[in-house]
Amino acid sequence: MNGKPFEIALYGKGGIGKSTICANLSAALALKGKRVLQIGCDPKHDSTRLLMEGRMLPTVLECLRDSASGEAPLSEVLGEGYLGIGCIEAGGPKPGIGCAGRGIISAFEFLEKKKVKERYDIVNYDVLGDVVCGGFAVPIRREYADAIFLVTSGEYMALYAANNILRGVRNYDGDKHRRIAGIIYNRRLVAGEDERVSRFAKATGLPVCAVVPRSDLFSKAEEEKKTVMELGTEGREREVFLKLAESISEDMPLFEALPLSDEDLERIVLGGEDFSPSKKAPDVKETPVSECDGCEEDMPRTDEAAQEQASRPPLYGCAFNGAATAAIHLTDAIVIAHSPKSCAFYTWQNISAPGRRNLYNRGILMPSAISPNFEPTLIDGHDVVFGAVDKLRSAVAAAMEKKPGAVIVISSCVSGIIGDDVLSTEEMSTDEIPVIVLPADGDISGDYVSGMDMCLKRIAKRLIDRNAKPSGKKVNIIGEYGVSNNTDVNYRVLKSWLDAMGIEIGCRFLGDATAAEVRDLLSAPLNILALDTPDNAKLKAWLEEEYGCVFFSRCLPVGYRATENFLKELGEFFGCEDRVAPVLEAERERYLAETEKYKEALKGKKVLMTTINTDIDWLWDTAEQAGAQFVWIGVLNYLRQQLRLTSDPSRKAVIHEIQTRSDILDAVEKYAPDIVITGYSDDMPKGAYVTDSLPMTQRVGFYSGIDVLDRWSLLLENRREGEWVNDREYFEKYFA
Ligand code: SF4
Repeated sequence: MNGKPFEIALYGKGGIGKSTICANLSAALALKGKRVLQIGCDPKHDSTRLLMEGRMLPTVLECLRDSASGEAPLSEVLGEGYLGIGCIEAGGPKPGIGCAGRGIISAFEFLEKKKVKERYDIVNYDVLGDVVCGGFAVPIRREYADAIFLVTSGEYMALYAANNILRGVRNYDGDKHRRIAGIIYNRRLVAGEDERVSRFAKATGLPVCAVVPRSDLFSKAEEEKKTVMELGTEGREREVFLKLAESISEDMPLFEALPLSDEDLERIVLGGEDFSPSKKAPDVKETPVSECDGCEEDMPRTDEAAQEQASRPPLYGCAFNGAATAAIHLTDAIVIAHSPKSCAFYTWQNISAPGRRNLYNRGILMPSAISPNFEPTLIDGHDVVFGAVDKLRSAVAAAMEKKPGAVIVISSCVSGIIGDDVLSTEEMSTDEIPVIVLPADGDISGDYVSGMDMCLKRIAKRLIDRNAKPSGKKVNIIGEYGVSNNTDVNYRVLKSWLDAMGIEIGCRFLGDATAAEVRDLLSAPLNILALDTPDNAKLKAWLEEEYGCVFFSRCLPVGYRATENFLKELGEFFGCEDRVAPVLEAERERYLAETEKYKEALKGKKVLMTTINTDIDWLWDTAEQAGAQFVWIGVLNYLRQQLRLTSDPSRKAVIHEIQTRSDILDAVEKYAPDIVITGYSDDMPKGAYVTDSLPMTQRVGFYSGIDVLDRWSLLLENRREGEWVNDREYFEKYFA
């Protein structure tokens, strides 16, 4: 032994007698003079009992669970058994709660930290053979097991488990490593079992290293809480283990894992067919998954999933993130993120960024975005092993004490993976306070958009009062973007018009609404979609179908022309046209005066633009009004839809679909623009033009285009070399 112990792992189906075999093998190795450590990795933690005279050791996980610091001294878990054999039980969480696989990982991390193995020549892992997840497969990893024994009887399910272990090893090793020592055959005296085991051994190319006889001596030893080795009775039972112990060394022959397909296993084990080991087992993967380049691209995807993704704008993030971003807009709710700190932190940043920027830029306070009612349960490593539902329940109970309009629980990847029963907290609902659970499970259940969708639908289903009847002059605003800087600005613009027209805003679904407002959503005769996006179109269709909601024909308007039409039609709908006319008159005058201001800077200026396939008439109108001219527009039509940039046929001549960046560069060279509007502005070569980009959501109203002209003229005024990007005066003022 060269300082590092030789580590062996005995894997076998539960109930096959693996722990008895493991303990006897440890005892035999100790009799041969080896310093042995046996680590039981079965949650039922009785692996070392026969070495400890029947004493059940406290498990590593019990000690970790019970210690406040999540630490435990090694002496609490390391027992000294027969002939000084070190005995440790990893243990597991309560059945049905937490993650036993992660428990094995935590126990192994603890043992590594305590450097316990260094005191021994041989480490003997006793592992449950039903390799159900990565945690149970940890002892198979190359940093642990140097040699792996398959413990099996001749029963089909035991051989099935043995074959599964070969699959697990194969996934780690491919054909590059040989770590299978062979089969330890535990006879059960079932008809035909010798032949079955022998056919399985032949088919997988493995030796049968030991045949453990069926013998009453094992029961006798068990009654005396000893191994047969300790019992000392001479005989074949003892001989088997001594011989096996003798064969175990760093130089022992080891074999490649060649698992069989399920069909071949059945054919060979049950059907009695022979299978030549020279023929490679058909279930073998030639390349381990981790070494396969581009696996993600090659993953089979359903047409439906591909279409679903293609129809969406590229919004990134997980379902947890999307659900939380929507949920915090139920302003009198408390949103509980059932997640680790990091998920909550990342999401909180995402939620609060637009609010902070608005406060900083424009002095606009958005309470839900600046200080959301968002509280994480802070799942930690301990919770992952032992389950975190109790923690969640305490958080829900504490939230309900504060008498919110609702409590919303959102699950993350971690709570999803460990199987926390988050939905059970809905039972904590009272008549006054509903508990609404969003089983988002991080990105397991989908992306950002699916999380938002789930959030809106579940909140709607739990809160909307189907008995409410439409009445009065009232509208709901549906589908505002929670993460946009313009959302609140736009709301204020809209509200000022509606106030002038005597129209009330009922519910913003979901942009800063109370639970009572959502309950009352059906009392508004009209709903206005905030943005024309594919996701909002789906939400609209759902609300129409589910609740019979009536939608206005126009979304929130961008630019002068659209705003004029929007207000006229809204006035007609509510029969208040007389109130619209003065608004339009006043705004027309103001709009023309504003446009006039930019003529000096923009008259005759050539504008070149790249955009996605959205309406830009609002900008075109205003730019033309100020005397600027669009010379070339490149469209990234990634959804391959009909172009809808303009309703004016005379404008179509300058619109081109583009594919690559060089299309833009060629156009810049050809048209020599003064202004280039592109999402790639940082990436454009220096030229005699200024660059700008458009925000994701535009400012609503008459002045959307004016805002943009204001930026252009500012950029043009400051375009002298170095004066804009590296403005020396500001630099010296603030940083020098
Ligand atoms: S993907 Fe999962 S781990 Fe990442 S932030 Fe979302 S919930 Fe958390």
